[in-house]
Amino acid sequence: MTIFKLFLLFSFLSFSFSEETPNHHAFPRPLILEYAELEEEEVSLRCRSWRFAGEANNLSPWKTVPKECAEHVKEYMNGKGYVYDLEIANKEAGEFAKSVKLKEDGLDAWVFDIDETLLSNLPYYAAHGYGFEVFDHAKFDDWVEKGVTPAIEASLKLYEDILNLGYKVILLTGRSESHRAVTVDNLINAGFRDWHQLILRSSDDKGKLAVIYKSEKRSEMEKEGFRILGNSGDQWSDLLGSSVSVRSFKLPNPMYFIA
Ligand SMILES: [Mg+2]
Repeated sequence: MTIFKLFLLFSFLSFSFSEETPNHHAFPRPLILEYAELEEEEVSLRCRSWRFAGEANNLSPWKTVPKECAEHVKEYMNGKGYVYDLEIANKEAGEFAKSVKLKEDGLDAWVFDIDETLLSNLPYYAAHGYGFEVFDHAKFDDWVEKGVTPAIEASLKLYEDILNLGYKVILLTGRSESHRAVTVDNLINAGFRDWHQLILRSSDDKGKLAVIYKSEKRSEMEKEGFRILGNSGDQWSDLLGSSVSVRSFKLPNPMYFIA
């Protein structure tokens, strides 16, 4: 086999692999923190810095929670810190939403992501190391199909306020179209209602980076005439790219990164 043929084969295999593992955690970049020698308090501080850097998108891309911070992330996710962080992000989103004078044409829109934005997969991640284990698509899909993912309370409150203010709610998720029925049931059972549109990944969107897929969908919304005033998501790939909202609200998520 010539070198050129080998190159083609390698390119094809790489492409196939990236098709198989589209957006979740596709980056082989473990952050090795040499904290073994440090005092507990120092480790805690370092892990807070790691978490802050993640939220600020300075770590991008990252693959898993560093093992030294697994306990820290577990404590954060189960403690008041996560709840308060969710509350302040949603409260500020609500303040912004109220401050805008909406037009009468029904085209003022607010976009919500679903996982770790409206619904919390914490029960799943609690059983899978809180982001310390490498993401497993098949296991996570099984969990999604159970349809028992609870609401994030502070987000549900924002969602209600957004609807009552007269925004059109558009749900834009990285979940695939095959999960539509269970996702609808799950959302309704968790208290969400009256969304204008629920957009899931179709076969055409397979393999696209989330930031591309979501930008394309927001661009389609704009072509339909919507003005995207707000966008809530737990990943920067929910919020960045093109056709971005007037204001974006980043919810905390130190468990995983999606590009
Ligand atoms: Mg999400």
